[in-house]
Amino acid sequence: MGTKRKAPEEPAAAEVETAGKKPALEAAAPGGLVNPKRVRVLKAGSVGKGPVVLWMSRDQRMNDNWALLHAIEAARGAAGGEAQVAVAFNLVPAFLGAGARQFGFMLRGLRQLQPRLEEKGIAFFMLKGDPAQTIPDLVTHLDAGLLVTDYSPLRLGRQWREQVCAAVRVPVHEVDAHNVVPVWAASDKREIGARTLRPKIHRHLPEFLREFPEVPSLPPWSHPVKPEPVEWEALLDEVLTRGSAVPEVDWCAPGEEAALAALTGPGGFLTASRLSLYDTKRNDPATPRALSNLSPYLHFGQLAPQRAALEAAKHRAKYKAAVESFLEELVVRRELSDNFCHYTPNYDSLDCAAEWAKESLNKHRVDKREFVYTREQLEAGRTHDELWNASQLEMVHRGKMHGFMRMYWAKKILEWTNGPEEAIEIAIYLNDRYELDGRDPSGYVGVMWSMAGIHDMGWTERPIFGKIRYMNYNGCKRKFDIKAYCAYVDRIVSEAKAKRRQQQQAGKPAAGAAAPAVGTGPSGSGSAAAAAAAKAEVKEEPEEEQEEAGSAGKAEGTVKPAAKKARVAKSPASGSKRKGDS
Ligand SMILES: Cc1cc2nc3c(=O)[nH]c(=O)nc-3n(C[C@H](O)[C@H](O)[C@H](O)COP(=O)(O)OP(=O)(O)OC[C@H]3O[C@@H](n4cnc5c(N)ncnc54)[C@H](O)[C@@H]3O)c2cc1C
Repeated sequence: MGTKRKAPEEPAAAEVETAGKKPALEAAAPGGLVNPKRVRVLKAGSVGKGPVVLWMSRDQRMNDNWALLHAIEAARGAAGGEAQVAVAFNLVPAFLGAGARQFGFMLRGLRQLQPRLEEKGIAFFMLKGDPAQTIPDLVTHLDAGLLVTDYSPLRLGRQWREQVCAAVRVPVHEVDAHNVVPVWAASDKREIGARTLRPKIHRHLPEFLREFPEVPSLPPWSHPVKPEPVEWEALLDEVLTRGSAVPEVDWCAPGEEAALAALTGPGGFLTASRLSLYDTKRNDPATPRALSNLSPYLHFGQLAPQRAALEAAKHRAKYKAAVESFLEELVVRRELSDNFCHYTPNYDSLDCAAEWAKESLNKHRVDKREFVYTREQLEAGRTHDELWNASQLEMVHRGKMHGFMRMYWAKKILEWTNGPEEAIEIAIYLNDRYELDGRDPSGYVGVMWSMAGIHDMGWTERPIFGKIRYMNYNGCKRKFDIKAYCAYVDRIVSEAKAKRRQQQQAGKPAAGAAAPAVGTGPSGSGSAAAAAAAKAEVKEEPEEEQEEAGSAGKAEGTVKPAAKKARVAKSPASGSKRKGDS
C-alpha cells in the first residue's frame, strides 16, 4: 500500500481587489480597447481596408466580448469612421455528440444576439457547413481586411482555425475572450495543478480583471454583400429534430440577457439567499440552489467569466468566503482546464496522465471488478447504486449534474468498467451527450481528474483505482442527505416524463422521445427488487474513502486509514460480473 501524504500547502484563495472601487478599463494600447496581450497573430499581415470579420465560435455574446472589441478596434484603425464589422457564425451539422439540448440552447441565444449586433451596425452572417470552407469563402466574398476569431483549446476548433488560416489571404488574429487571464499570458506551460497556476493567475489579475468598455456603435452595414435573412424557425426545427434523442431543458433560459439575469437578477446567483450558501453548501447535492448554475452560459459564451468575476467581487465585503470560493472555481479551476487542454493536445486520453497514474492504473487493470456495467446500462441509470443512478438521471433529464456528484459519478465508472480507457470513453460520451455544459475543457479535465489523477496526487493504493483518489457511497452519506438528493432527482425525472408525454400528445417530435429507457423506481434502478438488492449491497461497501477536498481538481486533504477488506457480496440484477469471476 502507498504511504499517507499530506497535500502541499496552497496560498490563500483568489484576491480580486475590486470591491468598493470602480474597476479600471483593461490596459490597452494607447487609445485602444483591448490589451494586446489578449491577441495572438495566427497569420501575419497588415490589416486591409475591407470589413473586419469576426468568426464567432466559443464566445457567443455582444457585451463583454474582447474578440468583438478587437474586431471593432482593428476595423476603426484601418477604415476610421467607415469601419465595418461582420460577425460570422458557422453552424456545423454535428459537434462532439451535441443534441437538441445543446444546439437548441445555442441557436436560441444566437437568435437574440443578431438584432443586438445589428443595432450597433454590425452585420450577422449565419453560415452552414464546414467552417474550413465557409469562413474563407465569406472573407473572400466580402473582400475583408482582417479575420478575427475567438479562442478555444479544443482540438476540433484548432484544426478548423489552422485550415482557415491556410485558406485565407488576409491576416488572422485570435483573441482569448473566454479567460480572465489569457491562457498564453497566464502560463507558458502545462501546469501541475491549481497550486502552481494560482499564483500566476493572481499575479496577472490586476492587469486583466478590469471593467469592459461598452461596445461602440458603428455606421450601419453598407457593404454590397448583405447577410441572407436567417430562417431561425427552420434552423431550430432542423437541429431539434436531428438531435431529438437528447431533448431541450427549460430551467435555463438561453441568451445573453438571461445569462446576466441568472448572475445578477432577482433570484440570481448573487442574491443574498443564494450567494450566502455557496461557501458551505456548494458540495451538497441536496441543496442545488447553492450553486451558480452558470456553466451553460459560460460554456456557450453567453456570459463572460470576467463579468461573473467582476460582479461577484462587488459582494466580497459581505460574503468574503463565498466570493473567494466562487472566484477560485470560476477563475483558477476553470482556467486550469484551459491551460491543460491548451498545452496537452491529447487531453482526453489516458496517455496524457502522469507516469505515477498510468503505472498504477496499469498495475490494477487486471483487478477483479465486483460490478461491470455496459455503456447502455450506465446510460439508463441501471446500476446497483441508487446515488449513482440519481446523478446519471439528473444529467439525462436536467442536463446538468451537480458538481459534487460529477466526481463520484466518474469515479464509479472507472470502478465498474473493464479498464481506464473504456471508462474515460464512456464518461466523455455521456458527459458530452447530456450535459448542457459538455464538450468543454472543464469536462475533459473533470473526467481526467477523476479517473487519471490529472492535477491531483497519488493516494493510498487500492484495488482498481491504484493510487487514483477514491470516493464511495458511505463518504457521501456522511456529507449530505442522499435520500433528499434522490427525491429531488425523482421529481426532475417525473416532471420531464410528464412534459414529454404532453409534448408527444401535442405532436412535437423534438421532445426527446428517444431518451434512454430508465427505471421507474426512486433511483431509476429498474425494479423494486433491484433497488432493494442495491440498498443491501451498498451498505456493505468499505468504509475507506479518500475524501476529496470539496471540489474537483483539488489536491488538498489527507488520506484516511486503509480499508478494512469488505467487498460487495452480490451482483445486482442489472450488473454483470467480470469474465472469469465466479
Ligand atoms: C467528471 C466531471 C465532469 C465535468 N464536466 C464538466 C463540463 O462538461 N463542463 C463544465 O463546464 N464543467 C464540468 N465539470 C466541472 C464542474 O463540475 C462544473 O463546472 C460545475 O459543476 C458547473 O456548475 P456550476 O456553474 O453551478 O458551478 P459553480 O460551483 O457555481 O462554479 C462556477 C463556475 O466555476 C467553474 N468551475 C466550477 N467547478 C469547476 C471545476 N471543478 N473545474 C473547472 N471549473 C469549475 C465553472 O465554470 C462553473 O460554472 C466537470 C467536473 C467533473 C468532475
